Amino acid sequence: MAHMVAVGLALLIATVFLISMEYALLRSNMATTMQIQMRIMAGNIAQALVVGEREGAFEVLASLAEAPEIDAAALYNMQHSRFAEYVRRGSLPQSFEVPVVTQAQRKTDLHKSEIWQPVMYGGMQVGVLYIRSNMKRLYRQLLWYIGTTVTVMLVTLFAAALLLNRLQRAVLNAEERAGFLANYDTVTDLPNRHAFNQHFQMLLDEAHQRRGTLALLVFDLDDFKVINDTLGHDVGDKLLYLVAQRLVSVAGKHDTIYRVGGDEFAMVLNQAVDVENVEAMANRFIRSLAQPIMLNDRSFYVGVSIGASIYPYDGEDAAHLLRDADAAMYYAKSRGKNNFQMFSAEMHHKSSTRLILESEMRVALEHKQFELYYQPQISLPERKLVGVEALIRWNHPQRGMLNPSNFIPVAEETGLIVHIGEWVLREACKQAMEWKEMGLALRMSVNLSGRQFRQECLVQTVTRIIEQTGMDTSLLELEITETVLMEDAEATTTRLVDLKAMGMHLAIDDFGTGYSSMAYLKRFPVSRLKIDRSFIRDIPQDADDVAITTATIQMAHSLKLEVVAEGVETNAQLQFLLEQGSDIIQGYLFSHPIDAHQMTEVAMTGRVGKG
Ligand code: C2E
Ligand code: CA
Ligand code: CA
Repeated sequence: MAHMVAVGLALLIATVFLISMEYALLRSNMATTMQIQMRIMAGNIAQALVVGEREGAFEVLASLAEAPEIDAAALYNMQHSRFAEYVRRGSLPQSFEVPVVTQAQRKTDLHKSEIWQPVMYGGMQVGVLYIRSNMKRLYRQLLWYIGTTVTVMLVTLFAAALLLNRLQRAVLNAEERAGFLANYDTVTDLPNRHAFNQHFQMLLDEAHQRRGTLALLVFDLDDFKVINDTLGHDVGDKLLYLVAQRLVSVAGKHDTIYRVGGDEFAMVLNQAVDVENVEAMANRFIRSLAQPIMLNDRSFYVGVSIGASIYPYDGEDAAHLLRDADAAMYYAKSRGKNNFQMFSAEMHHKSSTRLILESEMRVALEHKQFELYYQPQISLPERKLVGVEALIRWNHPQRGMLNPSNFIPVAEETGLIVHIGEWVLREACKQAMEWKEMGLALRMSVNLSGRQFRQECLVQTVTRIIEQTGMDTSLLELEITETVLMEDAEATTTRLVDLKAMGMHLAIDDFGTGYSSMAYLKRFPVSRLKIDRSFIRDIPQDADDVAITTATIQMAHSLKLEVVAEGVETNAQLQFLLEQGSDIIQGYLFSHPIDAHQMTEVAMTGRVGKG
């Protein structure tokens, strides 16, 4: 609009300028024409005046009838009296007003233009010719000019308005498009992280004002990277779009879904926010995504892990709420994906200590902060030291000696256990060979975690370490927990067969805590079964534990397996195990786990604790 006013104003000024120019031009033209006419007329009329031929003078003046703008004309002699005249309109001056007119004189106002022209004859002035003309013709011409100019200007103005309008629309469109691109994601058509940050802050401010609550949900698709890597980004993008559509359909009209990262989405709930509602909402999302998504005639299953935090309980600002919701989401993922988790303070503690622990463990491997302790295994009934179990310790620079329960679960989660486990096996093998060279042939039992056991290259890794350390495999035993063995019993069998073929022994650890199938127990090439110490603890008081342990020992023997009882702390327990025919015992009653140096001494002297 302002532009149009400016254009209009410019055109108006131009119009006024052009019209005034034209007016000046018309007037000067009119004057020139009159002057020329006068000069000719003065020449024609001079002789009539000199010879006093009035009729001739009148005749010359009458010719002015042809020029309609001329109202009157008169010829005066040098005595100032009128000699001849012509009048169409108005009156004539009685005498010429300028006493002696030696040169043409002009007087013009808005209505008329008057000219006095000296009449010369033979180089002498003989009179004065006077002509008065009206301005009608000039004004008519001017009016016509004004008409055309204004029309042209109006047309120009209209064209300019049209052009300006189109230009403005184009600019507006471009601005809109730029705004869209800045705030929307082109793959899913959802508002992006930028938009999310802005809206979330707005909603937070608003919740703060009304002293209300607000929930933040963050979504992370499970294993989406695999889809991208195997099927390409084109399919990945299409799938993302379909996933986004589904999330939007669950969220409904009132709640916005944002795409805040590659396979991450977010949503803010600001109505009826309580833990139950948030949980119900999250479960709706999970259920909806549990339905397959059809793309290119294939059905895809996309899992999602959701975490949530609530304002103001979990955090008061966007950064904290986001961090908390993220922590909850990672927690959900770690608990088997396709899961929802509400943020809780302990979780935060857990997730940050977890991160610290992980990086510290990497350092620990490099700086040799891990150490192996050994716990004697005693055969019954002769009470002879037959072997040891290698148990890891972490000599933490700040926290002192740490037991495995403080770090093995995190190492297992993060996968670091694979590296740690290799170190344990190598170290245990070296130690066993050292003892063997000293004449102490002790069987070395090494724990294998689930993650290690499931590793594709387990057999190669074990083979390599055995070669590197020159380990006598008949002295090596690997302990794998019952739960891990039963996870995928078919695959387990082949893996165990491969390991067994290398000459080592295999033991089932923590027996009784999982649900073994007898059929598999028969097929697994294991030599020993370790009864979990939770069953030993309350013997002989607890009748159930007594019954279970008795039955386990009998069953193991019927399968030709040796039995190791773990966690033996009392003589009563030892007595019971002796009676039941347990083959080997391990526990504080004989010895806590001790370091290599102490273990060497124990083995050399043959003195194993008490008993
Ligand atoms: P586990 O394999 O069942 O190891 C036996 C645990 O029982 C050891 O705890 C040992 O100190 C403890 N123990 C032995 N006798 C007694 C007793 O009389 N009473 C009681 N209450 N406890 C007794 P530790 O050394 O803390 O190890 C805990 C767990 O950590 C182990 O359980 C094993 O699952 C894991 N672990 C230890 N070292 C390694 C390792 O090098 N690699 C892997 N993957 N896991 C390990
Ligand atoms: Ca063990
Ligand atoms: Ca055990």
